[in-house]
Amino acid sequence: MSRFWSLKNQSEELKLSDWFYPTAHTNLITKWSAPVVWHNTYNEKVLKNYYKNHKITVGLTVFAVGRYLDFYLPRFVLSADKFFMVGQKVIIYIMVDDVFRMPWIELSPLRTLKVFEVKPENRWQDISMMRMKTISEHIVHHIQHEVDFLFCMDVDQVFENKYGLETLGESVAQLHAYWYKANATLFPYERNPLSEAYIPVGKGDFYYHAAVFGGTPVQVLNIVWECLKGIMKDKKRNIEAVWHDESHLNKYFFLHKPTKILSPEYCWDYRLPPNSDIKVIKLSWNFKAYKLIRNKM
Ligand code: UDP
Ligand code: MN
Repeated sequence: MSRFWSLKNQSEELKLSDWFYPTAHTNLITKWSAPVVWHNTYNEKVLKNYYKNHKITVGLTVFAVGRYLDFYLPRFVLSADKFFMVGQKVIIYIMVDDVFRMPWIELSPLRTLKVFEVKPENRWQDISMMRMKTISEHIVHHIQHEVDFLFCMDVDQVFENKYGLETLGESVAQLHAYWYKANATLFPYERNPLSEAYIPVGKGDFYYHAAVFGGTPVQVLNIVWECLKGIMKDKKRNIEAVWHDESHLNKYFFLHKPTKILSPEYCWDYRLPPNSDIKVIKLSWNFKAYKLIRNKM
């Protein structure tokens, strides 16, 4: 039995109506009844009280391979220390290609860093895609016994405001800042029917951003495992989906609907024009500096 389920049985479950107030925005519940969490739709006090009696640990995986280590990792980790799951136990799993280049980062109480070395891939696309494999192995070997909820994030982003308990769920998907208002026919899903990531035009609910996903360890294992299977099958046929792991993640969430969705405030890009939907930015994209830091392959 996973830690999450044994915890759940200890006392009554938290109901959506206890903490979620879908008044501030429209379209806050998906057609499969999942909440879409925006700022001002949740009651932090109720959530805090609930989790005071239901102690949890939240995991966060992040990869920093090659130049991403120096360029992005310190800001990501320091900002997570400040804003990610304040007051909760957090374990940050950092995957680097060279542990000796890992900077010394001091964290607040309740926070632990675990650093692992991963084999660097040559192409940046493979570095990104093969995260799915590494995450699955780490969940199986240890993460499932260490945390109740797990997030997997890109390193090229910065926390700016409290990113809290309202984001936790069995399977959590992030609305992509560029596509949350677009018509589904325009979403940049993989449209090659030969790819495992294929979604036909006119189908699909949202375009999700692979820079943030999460859930219980069992659910995240399923997500990353299915994505990896799709990626490897495509590789055998010499196919690469248009947005790599993100295309496969979108296919996964098309077939297995997420139980919670996060608004673009949870992963915003300041290069987009200011927008009255976006009230409080919790996490933002860091500068893209591909020319400087990406492997040229
Ligand atoms: N990544 C890395 N080194 C690389 C390329 C990618 O560590 O050379 C990791 C890193 O965590 C990064 C993620 O893979 O955030 C996804 O790549 P990137 O952020 O460049 O993709 P984008 O957000 O532009 O789709
Ligand atoms: Mn990124």
